[in-house]
Amino acid sequence: MTLLLEPEPAVPIGLLGGDPLLPNGVGWPTCVSCDGAMTHIGQFGVDEKLLTLFQCNNDPGMCADWEPFGGGNAAVLLSGPTVRTAGPPVPVSFPALPVGVREVPQAYEDLRDGVIGQFGGEPSWIQGPEVPSCPNCPAGPMRFVVQLESGPLDFLFGDYGSAYAFDCPSCQNAAWLWQS
Ligand SMILES: [Zn+2]
Ligand SMILES: [Zn+2]
Repeated sequence: MTLLLEPEPAVPIGLLGGDPLLPNGVGWPTCVSCDGAMTHIGQFGVDEKLLTLFQCNNDPGMCADWEPFGGGNAAVLLSGPTVRTAGPPVPVSFPALPVGVREVPQAYEDLRDGVIGQFGGEPSWIQGPEVPSCPNCPAGPMRFVVQLESGPLDFLFGDYGSAYAFDCPSCQNAAWLWQS
């Protein structure tokens, strides 16, 4: 069983690109390397929370946007009342695309070319597995939530790589990384 991420969804699950929902008082994330505002990549409903992904695109290749906890990308798990928040101007942004999920019988590895991504299941790694551990909860690996592919919406994770996002079932931590 694979849940494909698709536009015009049967079961809405989130938004790629565009502007995310943010709670009042939550600031727009900035990159620790270049201090610039990050680009919103996507936002997904997970257990009544919103897993929200940002990436520094101010100087592609220079700000460690490929690794979790490196400061060149950000994954935040939001809860409570939210409002649609327009981000500051950034060099790269993506048009909003509502996405949902559809169940298919095929394995994700057989479908990876040409799709937006998958929701849940097992990550389809390009390199070896790199499941992050939660820095707050050293009990084990984080939980895989969503995989995004380069191509749709002009996302480019390295050389046509894939992005992998995780949350921690025990706390509010989240992380994402990409491989190519
Ligand atoms: Zn940066
Ligand atoms: Zn945790």
